[in-house]
Amino acid sequence: MSTPALELQGLTKRYGDFTALHSMDLSIRPGEIFALLGPNGAGKTTMIGSVCGLVKKTAGTIRVFGKDLDKDPVAPRYDIGLVPQEINFDPFFSVAESLRIQLGYYGRPRDDARIDEVLTALNLQGKKDAMTRALSGGMKRRLLIAKALVHKPRLVFLDEPTAGVDVELRRDLWTYVRKLAADGTTILLTTHYLEEAEELADRVGIINEGRLLMVEDKATLLRRFGERRVVVTFEH
Ligand code: ATP
Repeated sequence: MSTPALELQGLTKRYGDFTALHSMDLSIRPGEIFALLGPNGAGKTTMIGSVCGLVKKTAGTIRVFGKDLDKDPVAPRYDIGLVPQEINFDPFFSVAESLRIQLGYYGRPRDDARIDEVLTALNLQGKKDAMTRALSGGMKRRLLIAKALVHKPRLVFLDEPTAGVDVELRRDLWTYVRKLAADGTTILLTTHYLEEAEELADRVGIINEGRLLMVEDKATLLRRFGERRVVVTFEH
């Protein structure tokens, strides 16, 4: 069996007396799309933050492509890309500058060819010199993804990538996520939408109140929701 892209064992996060994650175990296979489905406050962002070094875990082990983050806290994170929920780029930089900064942050050459490549993939060609504050909401969302991908991570977290976006952009982002996975990138996305999990994921984990309640492959999940939903899902 190949080394998991991500392996969590007993991942626990407490904020004071409140436990946001209760001893979570999870193993994500290289190349799969895994959807973590759960309501507000379930612990999805806390889990992602723990892996990405934004949240200090209370207990447990995190391995990225077999490397334990307690033993090697820096190098494995170069394999990770994070698309956060919130727009987080400086409004006073151009699109290209914000991507160059990101490449520098990951110790990669500030390579314009790579910047052009990622902008084209996300339909942002022609926007290279635009100020980020001048982009439309949809373009900002695409740039957020470009920023997470420009250093070519092997494991990508998308934290509620389509929350608050219109139907057309949602479809575009879904197509892009599928393409990324087809190219071998491992994807973990969080969502509130069952439909999104069904559309994209190979496997789905249901999380609530900091507990991973179940993990199912998509076929099993679809059987649980009946024939009608299966037809809707495969119409696309
Ligand atoms: P959403 O879908 O709303 O983004 P989520 O599943 O990502 O929710 P988290 O943001 O991980 O949930 O939050 C899990 C729980 O931890 C929530 O009850 C939240 O209020 C709590 N929490 C998160 N960050 C902190 C913090 N810094 N201090 C105290 N509690 C926190």
